[in-house]
Amino acid sequence: MSIVTATLESLNPATGEPVGSVPTTAPEDVHSVVDAVAAVQPAWAARSLAERGAVLQRVAQVVLDGSDDIRDLIVREQGKPRNEAFSMEILPTIDAVGWIAQAGAEILADEKVPMPQAFLKTKRSTFVYEPLGVIGIISPWNYPWSIPFGEVALALMAGNGVVLKPASLTPLIGERIIDVFSRAGVPEGLVRVVHGPGTGAALAESSVGKVFFTGSVETGRSVAEACARRLTGSVLELGGKDPMIVLDDAHLNHAIAGAVWGGFANAGQTCSGIERVYVARGVSERFIAGVIDGARRLRIGDPMSWDTEIGPMVSEEQHALVRELVDDAVASGATLHCGGPIDAPAGLNGAFYAPAVLTGVTPDMRIMREEIFGPVLPIVTVDSEAEAVALANDSDFGLGASVWTSDRARGERLSGQLEAGMVWINDHMFSHGACQCAWGGVKDSGLGRTHSKFGMYECVNVKLRVWEGSAMRDAWWHPYDETLGHALRSTANLLYGSAAERGRALRDGAVPLARLGGRLARDAIRR
Ligand code: NAD
Repeated sequence: MSIVTATLESLNPATGEPVGSVPTTAPEDVHSVVDAVAAVQPAWAARSLAERGAVLQRVAQVVLDGSDDIRDLIVREQGKPRNEAFSMEILPTIDAVGWIAQAGAEILADEKVPMPQAFLKTKRSTFVYEPLGVIGIISPWNYPWSIPFGEVALALMAGNGVVLKPASLTPLIGERIIDVFSRAGVPEGLVRVVHGPGTGAALAESSVGKVFFTGSVETGRSVAEACARRLTGSVLELGGKDPMIVLDDAHLNHAIAGAVWGGFANAGQTCSGIERVYVARGVSERFIAGVIDGARRLRIGDPMSWDTEIGPMVSEEQHALVRELVDDAVASGATLHCGGPIDAPAGLNGAFYAPAVLTGVTPDMRIMREEIFGPVLPIVTVDSEAEAVALANDSDFGLGASVWTSDRARGERLSGQLEAGMVWINDHMFSHGACQCAWGGVKDSGLGRTHSKFGMYECVNVKLRVWEGSAMRDAWWHPYDETLGHALRSTANLLYGSAAERGRALRDGAVPLARLGGRLARDAIRR
């Protein structure tokens, strides 16, 4: 059966030239891809955690061996600078598969559940982590390698098969992910990829056991609704509007460099990039001057060049959206200190936007409410911690947030007041690259977690398994009568009552307890 209907062409955002093309799948054929993966998944699930882990360990080596090539594919297809393609995409995934293989062997192993209650002591309970079957992964273009890669590895370690739907702007990277897993020895057909219009929605409506979706709020909501209709779970990693709070005792040079990196890495196209800065008045002048200077110094150019720090935006649409938000802010009274749309550097043909720094922004401006997804840092001066926290929380989003201070206790106290899935003190967003750390947001930024032990638990059915080996049946079974009632009441007093209640229970409960005990003992010998 051929299910290929057409091709999807991938273009280089820096040059506009084709990078390659992939065959697409018709939406109505997605379910048969899921069924095909479901057919090979049980054999993978039957392998031990150690065996699955060994395959994942080999994936790390395959990625390492092909890393120059993969890095340059990421640059050509997505447009981030070479050094970022390595530091923010490849390196974290080499580390992640090792962690998933090693830690997963413990986290997903059968886990004894202590049963200390006197009346349950004969039972042996265990959590068993069973795969869900096939997991659907729908991923975005901004981190086209590291986001789906980690989720594929987590799903596989837990014994699942995977159908991956990469973003339409970065299909070749999706293909390359499948390629490295199969080169490392993941069974043929266990991880499949689908491309093309309508395939994401079809995957959410298919028989997959769960969907890991990363992308916009609007699409995430429709994926969650489709899953909910089938009573299937979804993990949603959605948009962000991350605030950075710079306190007056911050190491200012680090805060400035951190703002420039956190705001402008990947040309600002990062879900947990810094999108709003709230800086204490005492240091705001120096901070703003430092950030403007840092933004102006960033080298814009061909992402294939080693020293480029800002490449093209991924598409003309993304560029237009950033222009629109900045123009709206300026028209409403904000000051643009540097940056804005620029012509493509010589020899290139992409949509470039020089890093922009804005002040004079107000909370009601679109730029402070909507996700920017471009190299723009709006900075607001605040007069107190409380004002900074209130403004930071004044958002529909709640992905990440950072606090910059030399006082750890102060930073940790503020972290408790911030509505976010992750709070970094004196850093921002790096922890997506450390797979042991949970990743995810609150409010419109999503639901559920990926990475970490919590991300592993998202990939399994937590089955409770109990062994009862005692000759004695449970005391609370039939027949129901007054003896049982008094015995149960006395047991409750004996176990949980005060000293006086325990004494009374011994006195008043002795007879019903003895009668019940005799009944259970007689039943025990009558097999
Ligand atoms: P998007 O929502 O447009 O697309 C995401 C994926 O969903 C793509 O693969 C797309 O083809 C697919 N899709 C489109 N319509 C669909 C439908 N109806 N049903 C199912 N799938 C469908 O997002 P994008 O533009 O690719 O990515 C940018 C967004 O992703 C930003 O909002 C960003 O903040 C967010 N993001 C979040 C995280 C996170 O960890 N929270 C990480 C990266 C990106």
